[in-house]
Amino acid sequence: MSIRKRISVTKRGFGILKKYCPGLVQGKALHEFINSVQPFISVWFSAHIINEIVTQKRIEKVILYVSLVVLINFICAFLKNIIERVCNEKESQMWCWFGKIFSDKQMSLDFVDLEDAKIQQQRQSAEENLYMFGNGLAQLVWGTSSLVRCFVNIVASVIMIVPLFISKSGNAFIDNPVWILILLASVTLGGFSNSKATIKENEVFMKWCEGTVWFNRAFMFFGKELYMSQERTKDVRIYQQNTIAEKVFDKLIQCDRENKTDIFKMSIYPAMASVIIGLANIVCYLFVALKAFFGAFGVGSIVQYVAVLLTFGQGIQQLMYVQADNAVYCTYLQKLFDYLDLPNNMYKGSLTVEKRDDNEYYIEFRNVSFKYPNAEDYALRNVNFKFKVGEKLAVVGMNGSGKSTFIKLMCRLYDPTEGEILLNGVNIQKYDYNEYMSIFSVVFQDFRLFSFSLAQNVATNMDYNADKVRSCLKKAGFKSHLSSLKNDIDVCLYKDFDTDGVEVSGGEAQKIALARALYKDAPFIILDEPTAALDPISEYEVYSKFNEIADNKTAIYISHRLASCRFCDVIAVFHEGAVIQNGTHEELLADSKGKYFELWNAQLQYYKRS
Ligand code: ADP
Ligand code: MG
Repeated sequence: MSIRKRISVTKRGFGILKKYCPGLVQGKALHEFINSVQPFISVWFSAHIINEIVTQKRIEKVILYVSLVVLINFICAFLKNIIERVCNEKESQMWCWFGKIFSDKQMSLDFVDLEDAKIQQQRQSAEENLYMFGNGLAQLVWGTSSLVRCFVNIVASVIMIVPLFISKSGNAFIDNPVWILILLASVTLGGFSNSKATIKENEVFMKWCEGTVWFNRAFMFFGKELYMSQERTKDVRIYQQNTIAEKVFDKLIQCDRENKTDIFKMSIYPAMASVIIGLANIVCYLFVALKAFFGAFGVGSIVQYVAVLLTFGQGIQQLMYVQADNAVYCTYLQKLFDYLDLPNNMYKGSLTVEKRDDNEYYIEFRNVSFKYPNAEDYALRNVNFKFKVGEKLAVVGMNGSGKSTFIKLMCRLYDPTEGEILLNGVNIQKYDYNEYMSIFSVVFQDFRLFSFSLAQNVATNMDYNADKVRSCLKKAGFKSHLSSLKNDIDVCLYKDFDTDGVEVSGGEAQKIALARALYKDAPFIILDEPTAALDPISEYEVYSKFNEIADNKTAIYISHRLASCRFCDVIAVFHEGAVIQNGTHEELLADSKGKYFELWNAQLQYYKRS
């Protein structure tokens, strides 16, 4: 990566930190600034105190210098402690803030991209690198200190070193300006060797990270997730999946991840660098001692110049280190940015959705075909279907016939591969995306509830109207359970956040999900197999009350149980991704050669038998 690119990547990284972790980098920088300036103050005062004692011996000046240096050091230490406390707290929260970066991006991605394995792998890899090793953003936070330290060390030591070269000892050999070059060269060589060591170390580290990410992913799954996850634990026990897991786990543990050559390289380069740095330091000591020996300055200044020269050397080493470190985190930051910069390809229009009550509007599927990303077959094939806004539509068909897909397309979770969907004669892509989404209340077949309170689940909000929550729960048929709950609607669902939380059964969960859809009070209400997990009595309750539940809204009711769809104005029969019949129950039943007739009779027999 070019230096220019690295500067822009680093700047953007700091921008993200400023937005998500405000104050953290600034605090770290200020802390390190005080920390790095402090030794220079001490060195400067020490040199003056020694020179005063050796030469003029003015006791009041010595006392003044000593008091000042003590006071300044006290203030610095005090400030540093305060900043450190604040920064430590911010740094411990930093990981949560990082989580927000990923969740914000996931939320803003097109829905279709959430199923794209390549994109999700990109996210997973960026996330793992950040959380497991701090690669990228955390390195940038940690690197801030080195950056400031290196800057202060170089600037302050250059300022303080100038008199060393201009003061004359009278000895032509030692006053020769070539010494400046020799010193600079040896200090820089020390810096370079250190940087070479860091680069080697980083290369090995990056390689190691890649291997470890895979190890940890497998470890997390076979060593933890398989046993801990509530969802999996039943199957693990019944099918004894632990025996397979243990075999994989043993293999993982045995595999030798630490390459011996890598360990050798990681250790030998820094060792070699420290020898070269030691030699450079000897040259510095020699030069300052000789200059003092020939009388260029007093004993006190030896302390100052030696300290400052060594610090300058460290500054150069740090500069090399900072730039090598920067190369590493820029590579990871770039990977993170590649994910954060994934575009939204879904066209999002700007038209407002007209909410009219005259029911003279239509939703129309025109030649719609759809293939899931990376799927071989079409889930919907050339669907042509039109229904009036305000009607109650039932969608029936066998499993896998495309019913849920039809709904997902209508709600614009996906766009059709071919054809178009129109609302009020306008392609739905032309409407403002969020506004269009807001007209649908859907209970998906695979809905999820959250570990919040019952009321918050229904209202999908922290604040809620308790009466409305109760009435929606009642409409959804949840009332009987409600009266038996200890904390009424404030009871927490599941035990993630509350040990008194309740585990709800599939049927109860479905009723809560239905109440949530009702609470949203959108013009369209869509229930995708809403009764699949309900017992027959609850199922009867839901569909017999469906007209009441749906009120005057446009309602779509999906089911593979035809009996529950009789009450709808129109029934659409899906088969292998196409709408093969549509009409009222009576009309469809009149066609004795139709699929509906066949399904109806098959189910009738089944119910009669059972
Ligand atoms: P139904 O709701 O009628 O049971 P779906 O609409 O869920 O059927 O599925 C229609 C077809 O699309 C099925 O063949 C199913 O396997 C496939 N399908 C559903 N969801 C996905 C998905 N996310 N990715 C790939 N294929 C899918
Ligand atoms: Mg379905």
